[in-house]
Amino acid sequence: MFSRRGFAALLLLSFTIPGLAGRAAEAAPDAVFLGGKVVTVDADFRVREALAVRDGKIVAVGSTAEIRALAQAGRTQVHELGGRTVLPGLIDSHVHAPAAAVFEFDHEIPAMETIQDVLDYIAARTRIVPEGEWIQTQQVFITRLREARYPTRAELDAVAPRHPVNFRTGPDNMLNTLGLKKCGFDRAWQVTDGGPGYLEKDAAGDPNGLARGLGRFIPGPKLRKPTPADHEARLRALLLDYNRSGFTAVCDRGASPESIRYYGNLRERGELTVRVSLSQTFPTVGALESILWAIDRIAASPLRRPDPWLHLIGTKIWLDGGMLTGSSYMLQPWGRNENYGIRDDTYRGVLNVPPDRLRAMVRRVAGHGLQFTAHAVGDAAGTELMDAYEAVDREIPLRGLRMGVTHSNFMTRELIERTAKLGVALDIQPIWLHLDARSLVQQFGYERLRYFQPLKSIFASGGKAGGGSDHMLKIGDLRAINPYNPFLAMWTTITRRAKWHEGQIHPEEALTRREALEFYTRHNAWVIFREKEIGSLEPGKQADFIVVDRDVLACPIDELRETQVLATWVGGREVYRRAAR
Ligand SMILES: [Zn+2]
Repeated sequence: MFSRRGFAALLLLSFTIPGLAGRAAEAAPDAVFLGGKVVTVDADFRVREALAVRDGKIVAVGSTAEIRALAQAGRTQVHELGGRTVLPGLIDSHVHAPAAAVFEFDHEIPAMETIQDVLDYIAARTRIVPEGEWIQTQQVFITRLREARYPTRAELDAVAPRHPVNFRTGPDNMLNTLGLKKCGFDRAWQVTDGGPGYLEKDAAGDPNGLARGLGRFIPGPKLRKPTPADHEARLRALLLDYNRSGFTAVCDRGASPESIRYYGNLRERGELTVRVSLSQTFPTVGALESILWAIDRIAASPLRRPDPWLHLIGTKIWLDGGMLTGSSYMLQPWGRNENYGIRDDTYRGVLNVPPDRLRAMVRRVAGHGLQFTAHAVGDAAGTELMDAYEAVDREIPLRGLRMGVTHSNFMTRELIERTAKLGVALDIQPIWLHLDARSLVQQFGYERLRYFQPLKSIFASGGKAGGGSDHMLKIGDLRAINPYNPFLAMWTTITRRAKWHEGQIHPEEALTRREALEFYTRHNAWVIFREKEIGSLEPGKQADFIVVDRDVLACPIDELRETQVLATWVGGREVYRRAAR
C-alpha cells in the first residue's frame, strides 16, 4: 500500500504523457485518473480502475490501459491514484447549513456529553458574561447526556449563582434560581396568555426550575450577531468542511428566503463547492389562505429552473414533534417519562397540522409540480402524511413528484409498503440510531423498535431512501449537532450499533456495504432529482468524486467509520485535498 505521503506526492506529480497520434484535441480528456479502485456505484455496482474527465464531466470509466490511451500530450493531466479507492461524491439528504454555520459565531461551544460538561461550560461562561446577564445552552439533548437527565436547579446555582441560566432543550427549559426570578416564575405564577406550558413544582409547591413549553417568556442571551457577509463567509467555510467530509451535494431541508439569498450570492460568485438542493419552508399556522399564498410564492421561485449548483426542489413543514423531546406522534402511547414530563398514559405525542389542512397544503404543492416533504418522526405522523398523499394522489398523480417523508424513524410494515407503492422519497438519519437508540430502547423496549429505520425492509419492498445527517448546529463532522460524518453513518446502517449500548438494534435491518454506499450516493441523487447528473461515476455525469484512504468495500468493518477523505473533486475541479503528513 502507498503511504499517505506517497499518495499526496503522486497526485501532486500530475503530468502529461504522449497521447495517441492523430486524435483530435477536442476529443481528448482534460484529466485522467489511473490505477485506482473506482467504485462506480452504477446500476451493476461495477468497480473499475480509472476514469477520464472533460469539461467537468466524466467521459469514460474503464481499465487503466483503456483510459491511459485516451490521454493526449500537452492536453491531458494524468493523475496516478496509487491503488486508492475512488467513490462518487457523497450526498447528504438533510442539512441546515446556513444556521449551523453561524451557531458558534459569538463563541465556540464545546461538546457536552455529561452533566459535568454542561456545568463546566456554564462556569466558563460566568467568567465572560457580565453578572446578571443570561447564559444559555441550546439543543443539548438530555437523552444524549451520559446521565440522561436534566441538570438540577441546585447544580446550575452552584456554578452560576449570579447569572440567570437557561438549559434549553426542545420545548423545555431548566432554569436556575436567578433565571426563575428574572422571569417572575414563582409558586403563584400562571400562564395567562392562553398559550401552552407550565412550571414543574417540588414537593413544597415551589418551581423546581423546569419550565415546560414556556420559552416565549424566557429572554435569550446577548450574543454578537453575524452580518450577511459573515453569514456567507461561514457558510462557505462549512461547505468546504462538507467537501473535507466527502460531500459534493446536499439538500437543505428548511431553506428560508434569507438562507437562500446566502446560497444565491455564493452561487453568483462561483463560490459554491457543494451542489445544493432546497426544500423551502412556509408557516403552517394562521389562515389557510395565507399559507396557500406562501406556497404559491415559493412555486414562483426562479431557482426552480435546472441548475447544476442551486436548485429548489420543493417544500418542507414540521408535522410532529421529536423523539428526543418526547413529542414525536406515535401510533401507541409514549409511556411515562419524567424527563419529558409525560404522566398521561394515553399521550401519543404532538401533531402540528390537522389532516384537512395538511391535505390542502399537499394538494397546493403538488399542483405546482413540487416535492412536498414533512418532518414526520413517529409512525402516527408518517401515517397521517401517507393518508394525505394517498388522498391527493386520487386527484393529482404523485408518483413522479417523489413526495417526501423526512426522518421517518418509526415505521410499520404497512407504512413501508405504502411509501414504496407511491414512490415516496424517505430522508433518514442513521446517526440518530447511533446516538439515541440507548434511550429509545429504555423508553419503548426493544420490540417496539422493530421498524426503527428499517432500511433493509424499505429497499426489499422497492422503496427509496437517502441518508442524511440533519446537521443543524456547529461546524465539524463529529462535533456538530447532528454529526455529519458519512462513514460513521454508513457504518451505523451496516452494524446497527449504538453508542453506550451493548448489542445491535435489529440487525435484520442492516445494510450491506454496497447498499450503504448507494444510500449516500445514487439513492440520494434520486431523492433530490439529480439522478441524471450525479450519484454514480458514469459517462455523462458530473465529475464529482472522492479519493479515500482505505478500501471501504474490504476493510475491517469497524475501520470503515474512521475513513478519511484524501481529495474531493466537484465538476472536475479539486476542491479539497488532505494535507500531506
Ligand atoms: Zn432538519
